[in-house]
Amino acid sequence: LTFSSCGLPPKLLLNLETAGYDFPTPIQMQAIPAALSGKSLLASADTGSGKTASFLVPIVSRCTRYRSEHPSDQKSPLAMVLAPTRELCVQVEYQAKMLGKGLPFKTALVVGGDPMSGQLYRIQQGVELIIGTPGRFVDLLTKHAIKLDSITMFVLDEVDCLLQRGFRDQVMQIFWALPQPQVLLFSATLSREVEKVGGSLAKEMVLVTI
Ligand code: AMP
Repeated sequence: LTFSSCGLPPKLLLNLETAGYDFPTPIQMQAIPAALSGKSLLASADTGSGKTASFLVPIVSRCTRYRSEHPSDQKSPLAMVLAPTRELCVQVEYQAKMLGKGLPFKTALVVGGDPMSGQLYRIQQGVELIIGTPGRFVDLLTKHAIKLDSITMFVLDEVDCLLQRGFRDQVMQIFWALPQPQVLLFSATLSREVEKVGGSLAKEMVLVTI
């Protein structure tokens, strides 16, 4: 498998090349085709494996295709990534901006520590992807400040951490606000618990291990 055999938008291929991503990593080889075809998946992949691009490449591809096929739609967010820390969210956004360069693909961060008003304003201007921590998302949901009914792709990065006590209720509250999205789960370790809870989020889940 190569990136160019995946049917990706030419600009995305160019951005991958510019980033020096010459060949997909093992996790990308399995996860990208499955996610591009709309399947939900649970992948065990550690930091350093290229897991971030495993979900961002399908997100950039599917979001930009959707926008070009629905040019007059309101620009509500189409994809959402939850991660346990602000730092991880910032890294995901950095890679998303790099892969989406030159495409109709905008991102917004929804994390604590920055004023909520600025984050909301950015989302209202129209973005494809929102990336954030569960706590800040729940704040926005509770205030009815954010429209999530166009979200068709839902990523939990470090899902083992996100399903632990403290986070799990928030993650589920967010999930229930979404209209049955494709679910992409990434975890360093695959416990029974992660498989069970993760499996309950989608009808069918492809298991990806490397
Ligand atoms: P991650 O596992 O997502 O934290 O990625 C680890 C590092 O690998 C990051 O610095 C990425 O920019 C880089 N990377 C991801 N995919 C590829 C690839 N296909 N080829 C080369 N580098 C990559």
